[in-house]
Amino acid sequence: MITPKIQDAINAQINAEFWSAYLYLAMAMHFEGEGHHGIANWFRIQFKEEQAHAEIFINYLLSRGGRVVLAPIGEVPQSWESPLAAYEATLAHEQKVTSLINNLYALAESEHDYATRGKLDWFVSEQVEEEETAQGLIDRLKLIGDNGLALYMLDQELASRVYNVPAPLANA
Ligand code: MG
Repeated sequence: MITPKIQDAINAQINAEFWSAYLYLAMAMHFEGEGHHGIANWFRIQFKEEQAHAEIFINYLLSRGGRVVLAPIGEVPQSWESPLAAYEATLAHEQKVTSLINNLYALAESEHDYATRGKLDWFVSEQVEEEETAQGLIDRLKLIGDNGLALYMLDQELASRVYNVPAPLANA
């Protein structure tokens, strides 16, 4: 069994992951409309990854005999000034998610729930990757500046991103 405190915290994290998914889907839709189909593809994959994160927590809560509560998903922004603005918003959001994961980790420790703490290890590493990827794209977009050809080339590159089922879900 899982303590009510941990169950509530995981349910809150499930909601946060779905909110992330919704945010990235909104970004994908925005950039489809702007004609940046590669960037849109990148965000669509980000959307799928976030859904997978929510599913990992759902499966975990069920495996511990917990109850999954699906709360409403809050509103997300609908437009961004530029690809750079969207990736800056992505980085800021991922930094927030990192602190959520860290708080959950600290709670699992204080509750002596070592199974939950162990489950979170993958998410800790995943957040390092998320922040690094967003920062990398911010750096490149800053170099690109208002060079349309360079932006076109980056868009082409991001069009080739493919979705890989995250390991904890693939092995479930
Ligand atoms: Mg996530």
